[in-house]
Amino acid sequence: LISEVAEKNNQTVFIVGGYVRDLLMHRKAPTDIDFVTEGNGIDLAKAVAHEINSKLKVSVFKNYGTAMFKHEGLDLEFVGARKESYAEDSRKPSVEIGTLEDDQKRRDFTINALAISLNKENFGELIDPFDGILDIKKRILRTPLEPSQTYSDDPLRMMRAIRFASTLNFKIEERSLASIKSEVERIRIVSMERIMVEFNKIMLSEKPSVGLKLMEQTGILHLIIPELTALKGIEEVEGQTHKDNFWHTLEVVDNICENTDNLWLRWAALLHDIGKAPTKKFMEGNGWTFHGHEFLGSKMVKNLFYRLKLPLGTDMKYVQKLVKLSSRPIALIDDGTSDAALRRLLFDAGEDLEDLFILNKADITTKNSSKQAKFKKNFEYVALKIKE
Ligand code: ATP
Repeated sequence: LISEVAEKNNQTVFIVGGYVRDLLMHRKAPTDIDFVTEGNGIDLAKAVAHEINSKLKVSVFKNYGTAMFKHEGLDLEFVGARKESYAEDSRKPSVEIGTLEDDQKRRDFTINALAISLNKENFGELIDPFDGILDIKKRILRTPLEPSQTYSDDPLRMMRAIRFASTLNFKIEERSLASIKSEVERIRIVSMERIMVEFNKIMLSEKPSVGLKLMEQTGILHLIIPELTALKGIEEVEGQTHKDNFWHTLEVVDNICENTDNLWLRWAALLHDIGKAPTKKFMEGNGWTFHGHEFLGSKMVKNLFYRLKLPLGTDMKYVQKLVKLSSRPIALIDDGTSDAALRRLLFDAGEDLEDLFILNKADITTKNSSKQAKFKKNFEYVALKIKE
């Protein structure tokens, strides 16, 4: 139908972007399909929608030259093919009308620049000017244009590269990685909301440590959440060391992701030790201590959520609560408390979880190494129970 309407309007039309990529990778059923036309995208959207049902509501984004409507549970988005050029201080390009090839060139990665023709003369043909198919096979993220140009033009693409590396389990091409590192400061021109959309996609991926490690390695993490990179490293005093709390955090995050898709529970795992960098002390006779880190950490969550423009309501309070509790309920489980008893205790405690950990204040820490191994997974275990 789209093909026919376009032909009637004397326009070409192609499917582009994520839908084509996911189709070739046999990934999940799509939720949105992007169409590009050499011509006016808004007109085409309106004409197609009208043909389906004259009452269909089309949302028009005039500034972007795009229009979309919903059909059979899918978001169908239409855009006119365009050519972009960027100014130094903004990620908003100036736009000219272009050809399909111009439009493919402006896309972030070769795997996102694939198009399928819906035009009569070559219906179904895959148009792949930058070897995106080969990159899908090689599982590599590569930019259609010079990487330094691509990332400097729109630094959000740095986050997108890392997001796709994490969600698709792809490698970022070496030249891209080098460009991200050298252009990293430009991430500052991207709004925090946009950064967080990508960050949360990383957090929701199967193994967020892939993306978090790349963020650390490229310097992005230090720019946006320095509280986390401050956990890096091991210090030694009088022959005593402590664990590297950054790497430990990544382990906890990956563990928790095996158990839950709850984004905020995953955030709680990510932030559960942030109070440790500012509370770290070496005490004669006692070794390394992090007294009160859960309480400080929980306070830090609030500042962090504010700065990162994350929601400040119940989701944040939930993360704060879990950070505060993160080490305490460990003692509870290690007490030998059975699963059923733990459930009952949590139930009895209701929302007033303060009671719960006062109850178990006695043996919060242990130096016994066989217990330590068991403790590793306890944070997420307890967190899940609380959620139930
Ligand atoms: P997903 O739906 O899994 O998030 P997607 O590739 O569809 O993946 P979108 O953010 O919906 O991601 O973007 C649609 C398409 O638009 C991309 O495939 C890409 O071709 C292009 N695109 C999106 N953002 C950018 C950007 N910042 N720079 C260049 N091209 C982009």
